[in-house]
Formats: sequence, structure tokens, C-alpha cells
Amino acid sequence: MTFPAAARDRADACPGALQTHPAADGALARVRVPGGVLTTAQLRVLTTAAGELGDGALELTSRGNVQLRGLARGSEPELGERLAAAGLLPSPTHETARNVLASVLSGRSGGLVDARPWVPAFDAGLCADPALAQLPGRFLAAFDDGRGDVAGQGADVTVLALAPDAVALLLAGADSGVRARPEDAVDLALAATRAFVAERAAQGGTAWRLAELAGGAERVAAALRGPRAERVPAPSAPRTGPAGPVAQDDGRTALVAVVPLGRLTAGQAAVLADVGPSELQLTPWRSVVVPDLADGSASDALAAAGLVLEPGSPWLHVTSCAGLPGCAKSRADVRADAEAAVAAGTLPAGGARQHWAGCERRCGRPAGGVVDVVATGSGYRVDRDPISR
Ligand code: SF4
Repeated sequence: MTFPAAARDRADACPGALQTHPAADGALARVRVPGGVLTTAQLRVLTTAAGELGDGALELTSRGNVQLRGLARGSEPELGERLAAAGLLPSPTHETARNVLASVLSGRSGGLVDARPWVPAFDAGLCADPALAQLPGRFLAAFDDGRGDVAGQGADVTVLALAPDAVALLLAGADSGVRARPEDAVDLALAATRAFVAERAAQGGTAWRLAELAGGAERVAAALRGPRAERVPAPSAPRTGPAGPVAQDDGRTALVAVVPLGRLTAGQAAVLADVGPSELQLTPWRSVVVPDLADGSASDALAAAGLVLEPGSPWLHVTSCAGLPGCAKSRADVRADAEAAVAAGTLPAGGARQHWAGCERRCGRPAGGVVDVVATGSGYRVDRDPISR
């Protein structure tokens, strides 16, 4: 659904690490993790902060970010200091703008190019530009190495590799026709981001997303230099992400561990940090990639901690919002109810890809076809969307 810019009568209030959201269970902080790339040292810092300042767990979001819940009032400065010291808060003025997805396993398995260098370069360029501090917290950039896993996630600005020597620029999810060489991909994405900020200001400065601007994608494309080509269809979002062992191109193994309902416990985080080398990747499917392992023998430790590595598991198809007790708007404890349905084998809609929500807002709903399971106060209503049928 898109909205005209005039429909927004309030500023975007996406939570950040410093600008927290007052939830029913305490303050909620969202820590941006561009590309989902997190060092094991950073994961330990987040886990310790969640235990000492929050409710002890980490929430993984559909943008590969991390949330801490149940924070005590006034704990933001302490959290900010810890995050900054760990390199997780490079620019306080840009913290909510750093929403960046990147292809999972890029440079390690598959893909047409290695998208990994694009993410820190884009993030550095974004943080270095004072004008980009105005970006709404809903803004999303994506770098897809050609496998098509994040190009369909509804980003405002997407770089999609079409060949080892060519990338396309997608705007609001559709090909703009603008092309570049991979070495110019970051400059192109930054130029498109700046053009969005300029067009947003020209249209009143209230829009949250590029798709909300009248003719937004066309106007942004027109402001960019570079060659044009015939437009190609954008990949649609995959229904699930990978799970389990993945053979890397270099002979090593990556393990992809799905985190049920995205709630990573302290014990699970500790196991991930212990078995992983120095770097992990959080995915839009609320899973964690542990790359560069000699073999898949760490699977047992991850599974014993409650992480899911079976590609056929129902957990790959179930997401939820926070629900009760975290959100006062919720009509049910949707996490507990979804967990019970998985355990009992009674997921509705035949176990189709589904998102459980405590109210009609359906926070955290993943991109693509998904069945909505919405609490009504007297049970759940199951809404199939046309793509899910
Ligand atoms: S969908 Fe509703 S109940 Fe769930 S987190 Fe969002 S506002 Fe709260």
C-alpha cells in the first residue's frame, strides 16, 4: 500500500538506539546493523547490554537489525556508550537512517559479485553526509549480488547485480533502467539516496518512503547520471531464507541458524559467538549465518540451544509481532500462541508462510506473500492474501 505524501501528518518515529520507543514492557531500542554483518565481539556486547539493561534477549528484525526490549527508563546514555565503543553507533545523527540489506552469503557462496564491500562503503558515505541525517527511519537500501534474495524486500534504493560487470538500480522495488559498473554501485546508491531526500523535501518533507512520493521513482531516476537500458523485472522476495549447512565456494561451510520468532536468547547468542569465527550475518529471515567453518559439526551445538537448522522446519514459515506483554495494543500473547501452534502441529492455513499479529497493524510483516493470523480478542482471524493462496 502506498500513501500520498500529504497523508503523513506526523514525523517518522522509528526507534533507534538513542531515540527509544516506550513500549509496554519498557523502552525499546533498535540497533542498526548494516548488511546484518556483526562481529562476535559485537554480539557479546549486545547480549551483555540486553542482560544488564533490558529483558535479556535480542530481537532480530526483518531488516537484519537488532532490538533490545524492557530497557529501564534513562538507560539510553549507557546503552549508547556501550554501542559506540563496540562500533555499533558510528554516527549518532544518522543512526536511524542506516537501514541496509545485503545478499546473504555474498562472496562466500553463489552470487554474481561480492556485495560485501558495498555495505560499509555505503554506510560510511551515508554517515559522512549531513544532509542524509534527514532520511526517515523507514528508508531502506539493499545490495543484491544477483541471487535475488534482497532485491524483492521492498527497499527504496536497491543495487542489483545483473552480471559480473553490470548492476541495475531499482527504485521503490522496480528497475529504473539506470545502469552502472559494480565499482560505481555505491556512488550510484548514494546519489539515488540524496535524490530521494531532495525530492522528499520538494514534496513537503513528510513522506517516509520513496513510493509515497508522487512520481518519486521517476523523478529520482531523472536526477541521476549514467547509462540507461531496457528495464528488467525485479526478483520477487523469496518465501524463506536458507537454513542449515551451506557449502561455501572456498570449500568451507556456513551454517544458517533460524531463530524462532526472531527472539535470540542470551544462551543462543553465546553459542553463536562461541562457534563462530569473527563475523556473523543477520538475515531478513530472522536467522544468523555462521560462516567460514571447517565443517558443519557445530550444527549440534546450535540445535541444542534451540536454533533451527532444518530447511523443512515450520519455524521457517512463522513470524510474529511482539504482542503481549510487550505491546499494549496487542489483543493476545501472539508469540506464545504461535509457539504452541508450532509445537502442537496446528498452524493455520496448512502451515503456509504466516505472520501472527496482535492487532491490525501487523508490525514486522515480511515482504511477499504471507497469511496474516490476526488476534481479534476472541481468537484469531486468518487472512490469506492473493499471493499466498
Ligand atoms: S502489530 Fe499491533 S500488537 Fe503487534 S506489535 Fe504492532 S502494534 Fe503491537
